[in-house]
Amino acid sequence: MTGPGGSRAEVIVVGAGAAGAAAAFHLASRGRDVLLLDGATFPRAKPCGGGMAASVQQLFPFDLRPAVDTVIRRVCFTWALEDPVQAELPGDAPFWIVRRSLLDSFLSEQAVAAGARFHPRTWVERIARRERSWVVAIRAPDGATANLESVAVVVADGSESRLAGPLGLGPRQPRYASTVSVEVDGPVEDPAAARFDFGLVRHGFCWAFPRHGGYSIGLGTFIGREDLAAEAVLARLLPSLGFPAEAGLRTTGRLRIWDGHHPLHGDGLVLAGDAASLCDPFLAEGLRPALLSGCRAATAVDHWLSGEALALEGYTATMRQEWGESMAWGRRMAQVFYRLPKVGYQLGVKRPTAPRRIAQILSGEMGYGDIAQRVIRRLLFQRG
Ligand SMILES: Cc1cc2nc3c(=O)[nH]c(=O)nc-3n(C[C@H](O)[C@H](O)[C@H](O)COP(=O)(O)OP(=O)(O)OC[C@H]3O[C@@H](n4cnc5c(N)ncnc54)[C@H](O)[C@@H]3O)c2cc1C
Repeated sequence: MTGPGGSRAEVIVVGAGAAGAAAAFHLASRGRDVLLLDGATFPRAKPCGGGMAASVQQLFPFDLRPAVDTVIRRVCFTWALEDPVQAELPGDAPFWIVRRSLLDSFLSEQAVAAGARFHPRTWVERIARRERSWVVAIRAPDGATANLESVAVVVADGSESRLAGPLGLGPRQPRYASTVSVEVDGPVEDPAAARFDFGLVRHGFCWAFPRHGGYSIGLGTFIGREDLAAEAVLARLLPSLGFPAEAGLRTTGRLRIWDGHHPLHGDGLVLAGDAASLCDPFLAEGLRPALLSGCRAATAVDHWLSGEALALEGYTATMRQEWGESMAWGRRMAQVFYRLPKVGYQLGVKRPTAPRRIAQILSGEMGYGDIAQRVIRRLLFQRG
């Protein structure tokens, strides 16, 4: 590879999405020599609603607002477009809609400003151990192949990760949610309201997030290999927002969701973001865990490079404690909720406290475990 710094780096970060760019920024800020590689051309589009709790700001020393498109002040839940529940979000738990093309490029720019070298349009084909180094085989933008070397590697190549499995990291058989995203341009009824419907999608939900000049719409199904029946759902959802049924461009995809505690580290190697199957199996929140894991991975790799032998084990343990424990409850709740969604909607979502609880979950103020304990206490109390 040509370019400043040549073919060696202390740390190679694979993937410049939310997780990889966050890791590259924090490593470069700590003075590490970082090479950030991504196969895509930047800025790149990414099918994503862009809903993100403002609390992620605490993970960065710079202002994230240049990437923020909209601030959400209220949420509206429906069951098959009926039976609405609307609630103001508490001021202390605001929710942002970001444009992924903006956010990911912005984070990469911050990484470069901190000293990282960023090579877009560079695909990583393989990663292999050679003595005390990692050899990262790449295909450069001109099609040429080359081997790069580093002491440590952060793997953050997203939900379609082809690198995590062969490296023995994360779940052996990842679990996926099926998704469809639709971007529609046109008038927005309430630019500060995010809409969620739990009755249109079987075993899942759909959402409409306002952004400047239109909506980011998404559908996701979370248990089994359910057919999303997206066109039938969109034929009802889009007209309810004032758009023709066929409006917008559909992108189908799949999203690795959290499915158990797994090792996220190897020898000089860590896994972050979707590649690590961190996405919330109940609400499909993937941005916050991607950013959190990128930051925690950077700290761990920095300590490991400084000679702290157990720092990478510490990363797996931290992600388990800070994220996985809550997701274990989230998965249990998703399995109950999405099997009996109508009951879940009536008894859960329609509770007066539900919008605040959901905001608290999404902001990280509360975990699913806290919710589960409240539900158990309520049931015990009612029975007693
Ligand atoms: C339809 C949809 C809607 C969503 N909405 C939301 C939402 O509203 N809020 C939320 O929190 N989450 C949402 N998510 C989840 C969220 O988008 C992901 O969790 C998030 O993108 C994870 O970031 P990441 O950095 O791990 O992966 P990515 O953002 O996917 O980044 C991975 C990067 O790796 C690169 N790459 C892959 N393989 C290679 C390779 N071999 N060599 C080099 N580069 C490679 C890719 O080009 C990509 O840039 C949504 C997901 C979907 C599918």
